[in-house]
Amino acid sequence: MGSRSLSERSSGDGKSEGFLVDRTAGRLARWLRILGLDAEYMAACDASAIARRARQSGRTVITRSHALAARLGKSGILLASEHLREQIRQMVREVGHESLDPFSRCNACNERLVPVAKDGVGGRVPAYVYEHQERFSVCPVCGRYYWQGTHWHIMHREIERIVGGVRDGDRWSRNGASHSRSKGGG
Ligand SMILES: [Zn+2]
Repeated sequence: MGSRSLSERSSGDGKSEGFLVDRTAGRLARWLRILGLDAEYMAACDASAIARRARQSGRTVITRSHALAARLGKSGILLASEHLREQIRQMVREVGHESLDPFSRCNACNERLVPVAKDGVGGRVPAYVYEHQERFSVCPVCGRYYWQGTHWHIMHREIERIVGGVRDGDRWSRNGASHSRSKGGG
């Protein structure tokens, strides 16, 4: 019923308001990160280990397991569908559109991306990319660089298809980026 809203979770002791995705919902973790949500993945099958981690980190567990969700009570979210898109939609309903910040996290390690100036990325991204992109960000953990390339646009369209109108790429436009120069026959 969306009663476990982010604001409710985050009120109080400043603990993490993020999620802990278990292996029954593994593919969802990457998508939550793409949407800008803090989503840790835990491969353990052991319900006790997951419950312990949730307690320690203050994270809300996302699972397909009825047993685990029942055990966790308020600190668990049971995914109603086995289909990824429906799962994404459910999570967007849970957190609310306004909590989304697409493309603000590293897909691989869940870390918040840090914007970098263009002169800082020379030699670290393909020459073609360097030439055609103006905005870059980097993951402080794995060092992966991100930009609004073809993949970005595909993901962006996919997000719109799945969740409808999210505030798109807010973080990019914040810097005054105008990325839609359709040069080179896009
Ligand atoms: Zn990373």
